[in-house]
Amino acid sequence: MMEPDEKIEDFDAVVVGAGFTGLYQLYKFRQLGLKVLVLEAGTGVGGTWYWNRYPGARTDSESRVYQYWFSDELLDEWDWSERFPAQEETERYLNYVAAKFDLKKDIKFNSRVTAATYNEDSKRWTVTTENGSAVSCQFFVMGAGGLSVPNTPDIPGVADFKGTKVHTSRWPQEGIDLAGKRVGIIGTGATGIQVIQTIADQVGSLTVFQRTPNYAIPMKNTQYNDEERRKIRAEYPRLCEQVNKTFGGHAWGSSEQPFFEVSEQEREAMLKELWEDGSLKLWAGSYADLWLDEEVSKVFSKFVAEHIRARVDDPAVAEKLIPTDHQFGTRRVPLETHYFEAYNRENVYLIDVNEDPIDHVDATGIVTRSGHHDLDVLIFATGFDAGTGALTSVDIRGRDQRLLRDDWDKNGINNYLGLQVNGYPNMFMVMGPMSPAAAFCNVPTCIQQQVDWITDCVSFVRNKGSHAIEPSREAEAGWGRHHDEKAAEALVTKTDSWYTGTNIEGKPRRLLAYIGGVPEYQAHCDEERDSGFAHCVFY
Ligand code: NAP
Repeated sequence: MMEPDEKIEDFDAVVVGAGFTGLYQLYKFRQLGLKVLVLEAGTGVGGTWYWNRYPGARTDSESRVYQYWFSDELLDEWDWSERFPAQEETERYLNYVAAKFDLKKDIKFNSRVTAATYNEDSKRWTVTTENGSAVSCQFFVMGAGGLSVPNTPDIPGVADFKGTKVHTSRWPQEGIDLAGKRVGIIGTGATGIQVIQTIADQVGSLTVFQRTPNYAIPMKNTQYNDEERRKIRAEYPRLCEQVNKTFGGHAWGSSEQPFFEVSEQEREAMLKELWEDGSLKLWAGSYADLWLDEEVSKVFSKFVAEHIRARVDDPAVAEKLIPTDHQFGTRRVPLETHYFEAYNRENVYLIDVNEDPIDHVDATGIVTRSGHHDLDVLIFATGFDAGTGALTSVDIRGRDQRLLRDDWDKNGINNYLGLQVNGYPNMFMVMGPMSPAAAFCNVPTCIQQQVDWITDCVSFVRNKGSHAIEPSREAEAGWGRHHDEKAAEALVTKTDSWYTGTNIEGKPRRLLAYIGGVPEYQAHCDEERDSGFAHCVFY
């Protein structure tokens, strides 16, 4: 613990989190000549790819665009082994980056940030960690991720369970021996699907407790050989530009042509081709009006549902695996590999908790209305307090000692460009709510753009001879209106999911991420920067 009169170390900037954001922000701030400290709760770098080491964890984005662009040397040196890399490869990549640029010397591990307080007199932040140590800084960047605060439902009796229970994002580094065990899993989102398809043939039995099925589509993963890697590498100069021009920050974008203006024959051929691609392209790189027109998403839904029916032996089980309360693309579309076939196995049981609700957990398993399910291991693949969780779980106090959590509770989320908040000078967010990075973006694309913007902003403040910057209230109000107008057009806004905050009890329903697309978002950010941050106030 800090003694009251103990001198704390001063930094120009403190960054929270050593994932994709923290590593790049550290690199960029160093280039400005700043004295920087990164505080990381874990024992290593990687962020999402450090924490989410559950069986089967891998990216749904293609490796060729799920990486940094800032160093040609890095692009030349790093060889991706496959199209959709597994957790350990992405974690290894981020460790490679940290070593290559000697980043670890400015990262303090085992340092979970619990509070950050702005002092109006000194115009500096004091950042405190769980172990009681504190540092001070002028610029404070929250880069602790959009999907980092686990949501574990408070099911009666869960504390009584005597077996192993684990949330997927807290999977132990040493692993869990699942061989021959009776395993239960709650949750069938992108995470649950990866776990289920991976462990089904390793465990004694697997009981899946499903509340909402998803329109998962096949991942066509391939191992790259040297020749393929050479071809992909030759594309990097184009790709690093291209990702910023597409709606979702991927290598490909959607067609603006209305779906129903295309002939039926062409539509069918296109759906087949997109399906064969085995990527998120069917969703985020097909037709722009899939996101806006329910009739279009119904066509996609029918197409995907037919594939699910064809793959599941028991028609009653197949129907349970097909969503009935939402259409394709209105929630995050997970990629899968033999996921639906897992339900053809004799050791896999599907419990639809809408028909057969969970009553409680006891020492030896889960009790649903129909009876007791004996379990040795209980896995919570129950998602996250997305977007806001990482920000509201820290006591962030701005001007007048206001608390960010209370401000957003009372008034709803307010911010400017998803990057800054009025009342919190010199605080920046990456992957914050109301930016595409919070949900509708190939994450590294949006992280890099936001970090670049923050770096430009900090550089501007320093060159201007100011101490602090914050957005005006009017700027925030304008961004909020624009965000809501865009959200109102989109089908995702009408569906329950973490996108709308409905997965967390009591969280106000509002589309979390900006859905105007990456190019439009970047244009707003560029305009603000090029205007000399005209909608901000300087101190
Ligand atoms: P999620 O999409 O929020 O899924 C959580 C699951 O838990 C849902 O099926 C949910 O049901 C269920 N659940 C929550 N509380 C429950 C309760 N009390 N009783 C029964 N079921 C309950 O979380 P996630 O799967 O961890 O994925 C979150 C996001 O992380 C993804 O959308 C994606 O953006 C990212 N992710 C990416 C990858 C990848 O790139 N490969 C992999 C994993 C995750 P309801 O749907 O009914 O709420």
